[in-house]
Amino acid sequence: MGELNVSILTPAKVVGRFQAGQVQVPSSDGYLGILPGHAELVSELGVGELIVNTHSGDQSFFVSGGFLNVGGGDHVTLLVDVAEKPTDIDLERAKEAKRRALARLEEKLGVDVMRAQAALLRAEQRLAVASRRSK
Ligand code: ATP
Repeated sequence: MGELNVSILTPAKVVGRFQAGQVQVPSSDGYLGILPGHAELVSELGVGELIVNTHSGDQSFFVSGGFLNVGGGDHVTLLVDVAEKPTDIDLERAKEAKRRALARLEEKLGVDVMRAQAALLRAEQRLAVASRRSK
């Protein structure tokens, strides 16, 4: 079986290019596992952990919005707003964002619940990706 040619791009830079056996992508409809030979596809990304399985191990990124394109030749392009590696994540900032979002959700009245839930999800997913640091 072939390999995926994975490119992770933001509008500002190339985050990384990898040869991979598989990628797990947080799409807006849930997690998608992409293997070589996958059908061509365009999908919107959600918030979560992007995992690229390479020969030298798994590369993990927090992503929050953007697009996935699976093209011909096993090219997988992730065009993302942000892609943070475990070591890029400021743990205290993410914990504080989580505390803030939970406090807002406790208030109930006068709170933009969807916005607070989205902030909570970003914070929790950042903490999950950051926890890969010690592994
Ligand atoms: P906060 O409330 O702490 O700003 P947020 O979820 O609202 O968090 P985003 O809007 O997702 O933040 O991101 C804004 C910018 O801040 C992006 O460039 C993102 O990479 C960066 N950022 C946000 N939180 C962190 C974090 N915990 N560690 C490192 N960079 C972060």
